[in-house]
Amino acid sequence: MKPLIKRFILFCSVVLFLYACNRSAYHATNKSHKQQAYQLARELVSVPVQQHASLSYAKEWVGTTNFSLRKPNMVIIHHTAQNSCDQTLRTFTLTRTQVSSHYVICADGTIHQMLNDYFRAHHAGVSKWGNMTDLNSGSIGIELDNNGYQPFSERQIESLVALLEQLKKKYQIPTANFIGHGDIAPTRKNDPNWRFPWKQLHEKGFGLWWKDTTGVKVPENFNHLQALRIVGYDIADSSAAKRAFKRHFMQDTTAQFGTSEKKILMQLYTQF
Ligand SMILES: [Zn+2]
Repeated sequence: MKPLIKRFILFCSVVLFLYACNRSAYHATNKSHKQQAYQLARELVSVPVQQHASLSYAKEWVGTTNFSLRKPNMVIIHHTAQNSCDQTLRTFTLTRTQVSSHYVICADGTIHQMLNDYFRAHHAGVSKWGNMTDLNSGSIGIELDNNGYQPFSERQIESLVALLEQLKKKYQIPTANFIGHGDIAPTRKNDPNWRFPWKQLHEKGFGLWWKDTTGVKVPENFNHLQALRIVGYDIADSSAAKRAFKRHFMQDTTAQFGTSEKKILMQLYTQF
């Protein structure tokens, strides 16, 4: 072989090697993401198919000219219960897990947006808040890298607050609609863990909080379960609901529900 050809083959091999090295580990899953997004977009642009033969549809389709995309109206905050951000990115790109969230915020404050806000991520699972049950459809899911027991780093909370500011403004999400996974699935979940700074978040404008309970008198007939229900909790399992309430509003992991808990709940539920 001529030296020039040899050199050319060597050059090509080096270029191919460097290309393979630089190619993202998520090249294949990113491609799959784009294909799925495209499929869903095709569904949106198609003319509605009238599938129910038993209904009296008009012969001619008339499409309205006035519409926009549905907007998310709630934010659900999670902890990943995993050991690193990389582990979570991997979990959310394995088809067999079928779990995902719109955002993952690493302990160092790095934000990964894994999904367009207008798509439905699989983060809430079986859940209920008030009378809403399909929480995935109306919410944005944010996962905080945290093994479930750790405190949340300042940089992570700073990034979260900055992100929430954008989301609240963009979609006009009501202050009360920033809640945790443990709030909407009290029998299954406890995230974000009890160390999560809900009060600090409330002071920034995200989520409700209770005011001074000095002078609050709990009437004898106060129905605390009904009050929890008014706040939003599913009370089918009452001790799970009480535990979820205390984790969120008192940074406490027990279910015991005495006068001080009732005072806080009374003060809070009147805001709903
Ligand atoms: Zn969760």
